[in-house]
Amino acid sequence: MQSIDLHTHSNISDGELTPEALVQKAFATGLHTLALTDHDSMDGVQRAQIAAAECGIRIIPGVEISSQWSRPSTNKVYGVHIVALNMAEPASLDHVLNQQKHVRAIRAQQICEKLEKILKHDFYPEILAMADGHADRITRSHIAQALLANRVVNRLQQAFDRFLKEGKPAFVAFNWLSLEETICAIQEAKGISVLAHPTKYNLSATNVRYMVERFAQHGGHAIELPPMSEPASTRQMIDRLAEQFTLKVSIGSDFHGSHMPWLKLGHTPQPKPHQLGVWEAFS
Ligand code: AMP
Ligand code: MN
Ligand code: MN
Ligand code: MN
Repeated sequence: MQSIDLHTHSNISDGELTPEALVQKAFATGLHTLALTDHDSMDGVQRAQIAAAECGIRIIPGVEISSQWSRPSTNKVYGVHIVALNMAEPASLDHVLNQQKHVRAIRAQQICEKLEKILKHDFYPEILAMADGHADRITRSHIAQALLANRVVNRLQQAFDRFLKEGKPAFVAFNWLSLEETICAIQEAKGISVLAHPTKYNLSATNVRYMVERFAQHGGHAIELPPMSEPASTRQMIDRLAEQFTLKVSIGSDFHGSHMPWLKLGHTPQPKPHQLGVWEAFS
């Protein structure tokens, strides 16, 4: 385990803990540097910084931006998450994040309308309550948790497999920012752009390579190393791509809380000695 975790969620998006409780858990876990990277929102960062000042942890301001890219030869659009870190001018991201939050709020209602047609039950009120009444914080993992709580599914993953993922009956496609727009916006905010969990998009090795190439061409800075639970061959593929496209590396657990117990705070892979970590520029 490292003492740095650069990808975590609070209940400002689909995490379980408040920003303050997340910081306390990070302290108890022995972390000295924590990035709070909620989905399309930086609303928890200041709260985390205040809590961190009390226990001496360093908070890196962050946000995980929902983005998309496509291969020019095909019309297929692929979702991709870009973690933005350490913005010197975070306010310049406000406009973009407000737009994404607006998309989130509308999409949540549309997903619930689809689910109501299929399951004859309106889950929206309880999902909105789970997000403390903030419609623009609702993610598909809130919706999956509501389906689980109502015993429509037995496991969180089943909610995605039966209803919520692309190609399934309650999937709603949306125009998130493009990869290029996302990287540009992060650059304007004077932050670092990190390609999040590159092996978690269900892409072929060819498409992973293509996505990483596009990310680097557009000026992306770093790529997240896959967790130790991934096969060695997968981790080596990302090591090779980082080297080939001269990307720095980032390490983060993608911690959410007890509803995703396989993601543990502070459990991050060990970078190779020659790899340049994004955290080395944080001083
Ligand atoms: P959203 O950004 O609203 O589309 O929600 C995405 C979130 O749902 C991700 O950050 C994950 O936490 C979770 N998620 C997405 N796909 C899956 C999946 N196949 N299985 C479990 N959780 C998922
Ligand atoms: Mn999430
Ligand atoms: Mn993600
Ligand atoms: Mn995440």
